[in-house]
Amino acid sequence: MKKILVIGSSNIDFVATMDEFPKIGETVEGNLFSYNMGGKGANQAIAAKRAGGNVTFITSVGNDDYGHNALEFYKKEGIDTSYSIVNDNITTGTALIWVDKNGENSIVIIPGANDLLSTGIIEENMTIIDESDIIVLQMEIPYQTVKAITEIANQKGKTVILNVAPAYPLDEDILKSVTYLIVNENEAETILGENKEEVGAEGLVDKLIEKGAENVILTLGKAGSIYKNSEGHLRIPAFKVEAKDSTGAGDTFCGALATRMSKGDCMKDALTFASAAAALSVTKMGALPSIPTEIEIMHFLS
Ligand code: ATP
Repeated sequence: MKKILVIGSSNIDFVATMDEFPKIGETVEGNLFSYNMGGKGANQAIAAKRAGGNVTFITSVGNDDYGHNALEFYKKEGIDTSYSIVNDNITTGTALIWVDKNGENSIVIIPGANDLLSTGIIEENMTIIDESDIIVLQMEIPYQTVKAITEIANQKGKTVILNVAPAYPLDEDILKSVTYLIVNENEAETILGENKEEVGAEGLVDKLIEKGAENVILTLGKAGSIYKNSEGHLRIPAFKVEAKDSTGAGDTFCGALATRMSKGDCMKDALTFASAAAALSVTKMGALPSIPTEIEIMHFLS
């Protein structure tokens, strides 16, 4: 099995559920409150590990209870965290998540220690980068770091998976260094400066390829996903489930996909597995607690 290296954020997710989101200046009574470990980097590392991958996670946390608990939690999941960093005088990243009665979410992120994951980590971690086959990145750490890792990993012939979440207007150089670009429609619109209403989902994918992306995966929530490169095109429908909370569906999808790629699946099988994992994740509340294990995914698919 190939080795997966996830480099990205750790956050503490504070989740509140409510019937309707409050309007500006309004106070509403919510239903439930919980807090969980999260962050797109952590979610994707855990999704890849639970799906059966061999995962190392490089992240940056504050020297606070949240940070130490997070690293301890990842270790218990079986993830190698030995290259992660604990920083004084800054808080672990935080995400404030609202979920309404339809399972839609709205999120505010305070990056904290995630912002300290600078380009300096590349030199310090060259050995593990060299030893890894698949590098998975998201956009909750500084853009310059994501870009530099992508370029170096590409030069070294690694498979680079970049999930452009949260949305960020990438430049063309980074698009050309990424092996698999994973975006939802809003993220694609931000990269392209195009409106999906005008070009459609397929149009967004085509334009990303025209800009230099090699393989594009556009996720469409309950409408599934589209995969395209210069050789072909796949449309993967979503599995029908009762959605409770879509938070983390994209992260579960990315992590599970990386794992199935690391096990040598063809793209159709890897995308089907990732879609099943993501569908299972929306049936439960929260991001990280809802990430399914390999056994649960296999059972769902059988
Ligand atoms: P998020 O930011 O909420 O984590 P995202 O916008 O990055 O998610 P989505 O496109 O919402 O990602 O979802 C990723 C994949 O998860 C979809 O391509 C689909 O396979 C699956 N998925 C998402 N929502 C549902 C749903 N309601 N039912 C079944 N599958 C879903």
